[in-house]
Amino acid sequence: MMTWPWAYPWVVPIDLHAHSSASDGTEPAAQVVASAARAGLDVVALTDHDTYAGWTSAVRAAREVGVGLVRGVEISCSYHGVSVHLLAYLVDPESPGLAAELHKARRSRVSRVDRMVERMAADGIPVTVEQVRRLAGEGTTMGRPHIADALVASGYVATRDEAFADVLRNGSRYYVSHYAPDPVTAVRLVRAAGGVPVMAHPFANGRGWTVEDRVVEEMALAGLAGLEARHRDHTQLERLHAEELAARLGLFTTGSSDYHGAGKQNRLGENTTTRDVLEQIEAEATSGVDVVRA
Ligand code: AMP
Ligand code: FE
Ligand code: FE
Ligand code: ZN
Repeated sequence: MMTWPWAYPWVVPIDLHAHSSASDGTEPAAQVVASAARAGLDVVALTDHDTYAGWTSAVRAAREVGVGLVRGVEISCSYHGVSVHLLAYLVDPESPGLAAELHKARRSRVSRVDRMVERMAADGIPVTVEQVRRLAGEGTTMGRPHIADALVASGYVATRDEAFADVLRNGSRYYVSHYAPDPVTAVRLVRAAGGVPVMAHPFANGRGWTVEDRVVEEMALAGLAGLEARHRDHTQLERLHAEELAARLGLFTTGSSDYHGAGKQNRLGENTTTRDVLEQIEAEATSGVDVVRA
């Protein structure tokens, strides 16, 4: 049976994870917000890797195009070498502890890209540091996707996906890690900044190693608020695992797209978060940074 969308007026599409060209998305922050409006979203969160750089233009765009905006950041963390991504919503950007960690991570990401590129160039792979920097642009959080862009530009691969399947994958001989705080410390820093911490794609084993439940428990004791259960990198079983662990630890769950513009297949609104969870995030935030209303 067919049902029309307006048969469910209480459904408001909320997508709490999207990237702009302030990190490894391909659209400027204002354009991400405009794309969210065009996709029919009610609320979008801008969550660039390790930076608040897109916030100002996103706020302006949100008021212009009439879409709700949650200002956030996705913090790259490392638990004894295992990558953990922590989404932080409505944090105070002036909070010194978190700002210092993000600054340290961004700086380390620059030299890490240099080292990866040096290793690749030494093996005859056509890529230079200058090219990667130019493609990333000024003030961007540098990441492997920008090396991928250089490899696409030189014709070595056709897409970012292809680069990540081979030379840029986690276990690659060219892989170099960068500074990243441990996730329990990061959760505490987010709460100290008045924000609300949610663990991104916690059990996405297709991306690489993930942490055991007891690490999530430790994070919950430190103040973690939720788990991003509904994410395209989770299998049905991994979603279920996240839902069950969240219920056991008293955490809420979210769903989101992890939009990166043209840099990834992810479509805005492909997974969504309920209105009551967004209300809880707003209620828990003590930073004074509010949700920009459409
Ligand atoms: P980095 O943080 O520099 O180690 O790079 C990891 C980032 O690369 C992740 O945050 C993803 O957004 C991005 N990424 C991972 N796999 C892919 C892929 N197949 N295509 C495009 N981007 C990817
Ligand atoms: Fe990314
Ligand atoms: Fe992530
Ligand atoms: Zn992300």
